[in-house]
Amino acid sequence: MKIRADVAQMLRAGHSDRQIARQLGVHRDQVIRARRLLGIPAGPTFPQPKAVEDLFRERVEEVDGGHLKWRGFRNERGTPVLKHRSRGALRNETAYRVAWRLQHDREPEGLVLPGCGYDQCVAPGHVEDRRLRNQVTAAYAAIFGETAA
Ligand SMILES: [Zn+2]
Repeated sequence: MKIRADVAQMLRAGHSDRQIARQLGVHRDQVIRARRLLGIPAGPTFPQPKAVEDLFRERVEEVDGGHLKWRGFRNERGTPVLKHRSRGALRNETAYRVAWRLQHDREPEGLVLPGCGYDQCVAPGHVEDRRLRNQVTAAYAAIFGETAA
């Protein structure tokens, strides 16, 4: 089989079978055969979605004290949020919850909020869920005695 030069060129440039067939007006089977003959592996048809960890890290900026400032999207209340695909479902979560999962092996309980005093900090080691907050409060009470907050 003779391979058309333009087909070979587009295959080498990394285009998909469908793209090449459409653009050059050739049958897709012809493109697939040419790909096989040239030994060019078929790439993924769709780019892989980015892992939530990557999406998170692209949207934070480290500031003094190891805190992380959120540079991503915020909801109407000003809360840092991150839309991502997880197990096939599109999820819209607070960046605090995403940060929590980067640090802890368990799902958070209740609201996840920064516990370090830095406004809207999303550092994975600085966010607390309800269970952790209760533990911290109990520990403070044990050390300093019951104090009205
Ligand atoms: Zn912090």
